Amino acid sequence: MSLDIDYYELLEVERSADDATLKASYRKLAMKYHPDKNPGCDDSEARFKAISEAYDCLKDPQKRAAYDRFGKAGVNGGAGGFGGGNGGDFGDIGDIFESIFGSAFGGGRQQRGPARGADLRYDMEIKLEDAFAGVTREIQVDVAARCDTCDGSGAKPGTQTNRCSTCAGHGKVRAQQGFFMVERTCPTCQGAGEVIADPCNSCHGEGRVDRRKTLTVNIPAGVDEGTRIRLSGEGESGARGAAPGDLYIFLHMARHKVFEREGTTLFTRAPISFTTAALGGEIGIPGLDGRMHDIAIPAGIQSGKQLRQRGAGMPVLNGRGHGDLVVQIDVETPTKLTARQKELLCEFRETETGDECPASQGFFGRIKEMWDDLTE
Ligand SMILES: [Zn+2]
Ligand SMILES: [Zn+2]
Repeated sequence: MSLDIDYYELLEVERSADDATLKASYRKLAMKYHPDKNPGCDDSEARFKAISEAYDCLKDPQKRAAYDRFGKAGVNGGAGGFGGGNGGDFGDIGDIFESIFGSAFGGGRQQRGPARGADLRYDMEIKLEDAFAGVTREIQVDVAARCDTCDGSGAKPGTQTNRCSTCAGHGKVRAQQGFFMVERTCPTCQGAGEVIADPCNSCHGEGRVDRRKTLTVNIPAGVDEGTRIRLSGEGESGARGAAPGDLYIFLHMARHKVFEREGTTLFTRAPISFTTAALGGEIGIPGLDGRMHDIAIPAGIQSGKQLRQRGAGMPVLNGRGHGDLVVQIDVETPTKLTARQKELLCEFRETETGDECPASQGFFGRIKEMWDDLTE
């Protein structure tokens, strides 16, 4: 849709229309093409802006005269134009959009009265054992808390707060913007509707003072790095008795000397002797549940093999059951041998046929073939 339409046509009035007719027609069309009434319709929005632009010009007798003689060039700062800056007069349209459509377009939440207190963050490190079983911890936080002297009102005890004269106690002031009535938070009382005549000495009228609070935090079993725990209403108290914010505990996991963790899976590496690897056996891995888990090692196990103990891992947060404990086997080659042990191993070597280690035999078989091919 071309918006380069004559202003009078846009407003659907005669060129001789008087101010009242202009205003009435503009009001009617503005309602009709209001983006709020035509959500998602770009044409309507463009039309609405064009209508506003046209009315903005024609309501001003000087601009209207210029428009009548020179067209848009006369209004928009072209040669011989009036009013200077291009589009400078339309700033208030943006304001109207914001004030009226702000909430409808998903803007900030509607706020009444003094501001709610800020949310706070507290970082806490916990041990894997505590994450396994759950734990209760006490923490101390310095928080802006409700002033006891004035009970959060900000006024000196025994004195009264006065109704705000700017907003007559409504907390909001209304202002005319074009045809629209715009409501704003009262600048004098910041929305409280009351002003303090005699401020409380303890909090200087803020209604809150910094105070060290001791809080008990219940940490459920299964929490992990980054888990947040919300303590509702334990953040900063709001100004002059408004609702407090929340306190968020951000959990961090301390390194554990044996286990690593991936979700509910506990993981560890267990180096075993080559004799255990060859002959088989059993190793004991203590679980976080305080029980010893006997892990059977099958004879002939190789390095890198993972053995899984079902249900011996971390508990599921807010759920049931546990993950697994995974033990990865590393076969350790002995580095300190006695003369007697060496003797035994030499004796063992003399009995080797190659069949004991099929992977090794296969590999060296392939190497020999490759060499034979190359040297043929
Ligand atoms: Zn106070
Ligand atoms: Zn006020």
